[in-house]
Amino acid sequence: MRCIFCKCNSSSSMSREHIIPESFGNKEHTLPPGVVCDKCNNYIGRKVEKPLLDSPYFKEQRFKMSVPSKENKIPMIGGIHLQSRTLIELMKRSDEDGISIGAAPGEDESQWIQALTEQKNGTLIIPIVSPPNDYVISRFIAKVGLEVLASRLIKVEGGLDEVVDKPELDDLRSYVRIGTPGRVWQYSCRSLYPPDFLFTEQGEVFEVLHEYDILVTESFEFYIVVALFGVEYVLNLGGREIDGYHEWLRNHNARSPLYVNRNAQL
Ligand SMILES: [Zn+2]
Repeated sequence: MRCIFCKCNSSSSMSREHIIPESFGNKEHTLPPGVVCDKCNNYIGRKVEKPLLDSPYFKEQRFKMSVPSKENKIPMIGGIHLQSRTLIELMKRSDEDGISIGAAPGEDESQWIQALTEQKNGTLIIPIVSPPNDYVISRFIAKVGLEVLASRLIKVEGGLDEVVDKPELDDLRSYVRIGTPGRVWQYSCRSLYPPDFLFTEQGEVFEVLHEYDILVTESFEFYIVVALFGVEYVLNLGGREIDGYHEWLRNHNARSPLYVNRNAQL
């Protein structure tokens, strides 16, 4: 067996690759050991996924949606109590409802408590955070793209070899494995639905934290389409241009490829 990223022999690899990290609530979408070798799995975890997971933007999304990490922890978010100018932390526990608030490490909690006692009310400011930079996002979406392709083709005889041997995917492979910070891979990004949107299908009500599909356009370009917390990210697996996707959107009333063939509300 060969790794879809470095093409090395990966027959002795032990780790299962999560297509979407567990910290985004994914437990079922994984690749068998060896599809991604242990070395690439480790590198991707540290250099591709961690910068995304550690970004204030995705921490906030996970906090809002109460998505715990594999260690069962929901990330904290920071704020400021305006009247006492105390930095505070907002916390959630995965086994309890509600939010608890405490002074950040190193802050004097007594000032904040005193201000609350005197004024009976106060203002809590939660700063707005921007998404991580394009390099971090595009590398992550590129990684998901190659892995989704592998997860589809693994079911076909010789399918994985095709993914490994396809020269058209080499640029994408090295973008994930090595990276080119000066040359960011283009991607499309737009909001599809609020992160806490409630979907109903066959009488069931549910939220969607993440979903993905592969779009093959009329000109046979392959795009990975990923939605994370209601935001759609699309990237061309065969090249850095995104024009073909924009054209596809024009021809499909700007509907998301995730929903165009489904009887969905969007
Ligand atoms: Zn590898």
